[in-house]
Amino acid sequence: MNQHFSAETQYTPPADAAAPQEDVVRLVDLKRRFGATAALDGVSLTVRKGEILGIIGRSGAGKSTLIRCLNGLERPDSGQVIVEGRDIARLGERELQPLRRRIGMIFQHFNLLSAKTVEDNVALPLKIEGRSKAERLARAAELLDLVGLSEKAKAYPASLSGGQKQRVGIARALAARPALLLSDEATSALDPETTRSILALLRDINRRLDLTILLITHEMEVIRSIADRVAVIDAGRIVEQGPVWSVFADPRSAITKSLLGGIRPQLPEEIAARLSQSAGPEAVLRVDIAGEIARQPLLSDLATTVPGSFRLIHGGIDHVQQQPVASLFLGIPADAGHVKQVLDFLKGRGARAEVVGYVSDND
Ligand code: ADP
Repeated sequence: MNQHFSAETQYTPPADAAAPQEDVVRLVDLKRRFGATAALDGVSLTVRKGEILGIIGRSGAGKSTLIRCLNGLERPDSGQVIVEGRDIARLGERELQPLRRRIGMIFQHFNLLSAKTVEDNVALPLKIEGRSKAERLARAAELLDLVGLSEKAKAYPASLSGGQKQRVGIARALAARPALLLSDEATSALDPETTRSILALLRDINRRLDLTILLITHEMEVIRSIADRVAVIDAGRIVEQGPVWSVFADPRSAITKSLLGGIRPQLPEEIAARLSQSAGPEAVLRVDIAGEIARQPLLSDLATTVPGSFRLIHGGIDHVQQQPVASLFLGIPADAGHVKQVLDFLKGRGARAEVVGYVSDND
């Protein structure tokens, strides 16, 4: 461990890094194979200053490989990993060290040192930088205050709850004032209530410190709670990305739809099981609306514009990033002309609408 502070090991971001629309991280066509497996198959992605970007994917999608490329533990076969304007994929180990410290990490299992007190854990990155003890302790106190754990400074990790351990992890990750906080499944080992409080803390720190956060997860609920933008990774490729509310409102890829499965309203199982794909007396429509149109009286307009009855079978309105995102299931008489009229009306108003099947009775 290098305890001596030296100019060589201190990294100062280049002076031109303060461009208005600064990207903290830029991945360009990143590729990494393991034998026949393309763990990363041309990933391009930017993390903008001050945003929370969530990367979501199933197990085996390439998330860990991406993280390892980002913190320099893995060399990509090709492509660029640009952190604050410098391509770390090309740097030698010695040059990489100070750049690595520009990324603070938090982990699923916290990775605290059990033999060290909370404040010493938090101050560890500063010790590695060779900072004085007084400076380390002052910074640790400041950070423990930030995460609401001042009274635990002298405690050992074993005496802390999971949520408290993660707060220490967050404080430690921020000690060296990183450009990016990288969260690797940081709430996956926590219960739902603790998860909420840790995510709220991350959101709060993001806003107060304008801290850029890259959050890796397999849980859409985590993305929905705090991310500004989301990128979906599957088989080493980014298959979809955009503002969280718009991806929630209009998921394009099968994998995104599947990851959203538990969050977006679905037809109740007993109705879904009775759906037939051949025409029956009642057509079941799935109608998805979001943003401005979800604030309008769409159903009453439908009732007054298109003659004929409809019934609401199922549905829900959610709010994602303060935007309404709604999915409704309507039952309408299955007359082909009528179905077309209803679909035309809904699409004309900006909704997404499709017939998902037919049912033979009204229960
Ligand atoms: P995730 O973190 O999303 O679960 P990974 O990045 O760990 O995905 O893995 C992506 C793919 O690359 C998987 O098919 C995995 O088996 C493969 N892989 C990752 N690391 C290695 C390795 N060191 N050797 C061989 N295959 C690997």
